[in-house]
Amino acid sequence: MSTEATVEKIVSLCKRRGFVFQSSEIYGGIGGFWDYGPLGVELKNNIKRAWWKAVVQERDDMVGLDAAIVMNPTVWKASGHLDTFADPMVDCKECKRRFRADELAHHVPASAHGHAAEAPVVRCPECGGELTEPRMFNLMFKTYVGPVEDDASVAYLRPETAQGMFVNFSNVLQTMRRKLPFGMAQIGKAFRNEITPGNFIFRDREFEQMEIEYFVKPGTDEEWHQHWVEERHRWYLNLGLSPERLRVRRLDREELAHYAKDTYEVEYLFPMGWSELEGIANRTDFDLGRHAEFSGRVLEYFDEETGEHVVPYVIEPSSGVDRLFMAFLMDSYDEEEVRGETRAILRLHKDLAPTKVAVLPLSRNEQLVPPAREVWALLRPHWMTQFDDAQSIGRRYRRQDEVGTPYCVTIDFDTLTDQAVTIRERDSMEQVRVPIANLVAALREKLEPA
Ligand code: ATP
Repeated sequence: MSTEATVEKIVSLCKRRGFVFQSSEIYGGIGGFWDYGPLGVELKNNIKRAWWKAVVQERDDMVGLDAAIVMNPTVWKASGHLDTFADPMVDCKECKRRFRADELAHHVPASAHGHAAEAPVVRCPECGGELTEPRMFNLMFKTYVGPVEDDASVAYLRPETAQGMFVNFSNVLQTMRRKLPFGMAQIGKAFRNEITPGNFIFRDREFEQMEIEYFVKPGTDEEWHQHWVEERHRWYLNLGLSPERLRVRRLDREELAHYAKDTYEVEYLFPMGWSELEGIANRTDFDLGRHAEFSGRVLEYFDEETGEHVVPYVIEPSSGVDRLFMAFLMDSYDEEEVRGETRAILRLHKDLAPTKVAVLPLSRNEQLVPPAREVWALLRPHWMTQFDDAQSIGRRYRRQDEVGTPYCVTIDFDTLTDQAVTIRERDSMEQVRVPIANLVAALREKLEPA
């Protein structure tokens, strides 16, 4: 991330250029929900595609899954979410605002710290008012299945995608004839009624997760845990996140979730501090064991070599698309002086850039626009493209730089005679002349090098 990137600038860019809008904005929005605009949906899809390619397509030990969002509620009893998926909540007695008690504890003003052995006095960070005692608040969204709203029809929107993979363990094992170790990957929406959503799309109430459940023989779990920590760390670096703003942190014992033997976090240095992008947990046999207990089914693996039935251990790399989206934008945002003007630029990895190529006639001249449209039609089957003929060519280059388009193709008056166009590269601003007949091949070499 350049020193220029601030959350305010990224929020403004996202709105102005069609990456992210407030959900139901014309009605005043709704806290913790966001809509991804035309460029945002492309960036999001590209993040998901890059992840899927790395963790499913390119591996010989992984398969995909797409489970339902609403599941039998016993799933959440077995997983522990009904009993323990809660945050401590406090209310301000004066202004009635709500806060997460554990977050406020990090924000105790120096003057509020009592003498040794006294608990610090925490007051409302907004108005200084007195706070209620913390109450536990379950983060799951509740709904009813079917026409009758009674206890028997209660269901929940999933707070994580993981459980869909655990409950399908036997289905996948049998249908895909897998041997340990093997894993499942899933991308999908998750919902948490966060007490304090915020920091733009960092903490939402509706978000998307990319999760892996990797099943291994007990005893090999620590080795596989290390494997996934390294793999996932490398993935972020390969997609261009600044190494100095990325770290892997092993959680302390007291930070571990109830199901975890050991957990690492991949964290990014956002303006608000180091924050989790992905958790990589060793969940042991907790989930399969609990689902076996609650469902009465056998969720085991038969090891033909040893003749033993084992309950596999699970390594779970779990990341959030929205958080990664924000990290990639913050990290790639840059400003530089070009001929006395400031140029804002997203130095996004080419695989992530929402638009790969912009087609720009030098002007709206009636001789230039038709061949430019022909070039545009030539490129559309291959990549996401844009056509822009409004305003000066310099302004249009800046517009594309600001949304991270790696290449602009310019059609000028020479094109009419030499049947060639100019390719301009985003970061270096270097230009090369290429015959239209070679354009697709030339761009392919740049965008998809072998
Ligand atoms: P946090 O401590 O920040 O609340 P968590 O530890 O509860 O996160 P996990 O349950 O490990 O998060 O979820 C895995 C991933 O899902 C996180 O690393 C994050 O990328 C994403 N995620 C979790 N909660 C949210 C949220 N409210 N908004 C956006 N992404 C989220």
